Amino acid sequence: MSLPHQPRTNLDVGFVAQYTLPDWYANNTPQCTDATPAVAWHSVDNPALDLTTRCRMCAAAEVAAVTVRSHQGLLVWMRWQAIDGPFCGPCGTALIRKLTVRTLCLGWWNPLSLAAAAPAALVANAAAYRRLRRLPPPVPLPGRPRPDPGKPVLQRPLAYVVLIPLAGVIWLLSTALASLA
Ligand SMILES: [Zn+2]
Repeated sequence: MSLPHQPRTNLDVGFVAQYTLPDWYANNTPQCTDATPAVAWHSVDNPALDLTTRCRMCAAAEVAAVTVRSHQGLLVWMRWQAIDGPFCGPCGTALIRKLTVRTLCLGWWNPLSLAAAAPAALVANAAAYRRLRRLPPPVPLPGRPRPDPGKPVLQRPLAYVVLIPLAGVIWLLSTALASLA
């Protein structure tokens, strides 16, 4: 016994649409006649606002054009990181604290880093910090996160990793001086 089988046919042949297109589609007329006019709403998307001169994080206007740096060095590998502003006081301070702790923790494990690069990054960040401290308190734009400078460097445990290479340098110096005596 075989199942009934119809040969494949295209039943849509000759199909004609029975509906008429709506007026707004056919003539492109606006559905809503009392549309809200474009207002100059004060927002971060306001094209009149020049964000390049404002804080890169909270878009506050009270900024300084500083560069925040970190350095990491391990044996023969070295990495520089530099983040350009402008930053407001709290946002720049938060970044300086983060990158300074990174440098204090990872910046020393290569002779060139220990002798020059990591100290240079720390000095540059200290100079940037002094400039940011002179700024007035920032007023961030609505919708942007309130700037938070974060915990001071000395309250972050990773910063104290720096004591290991420092102790090594002091030990090396004292051994060298003792051998001279
Ligand atoms: Zn900011």
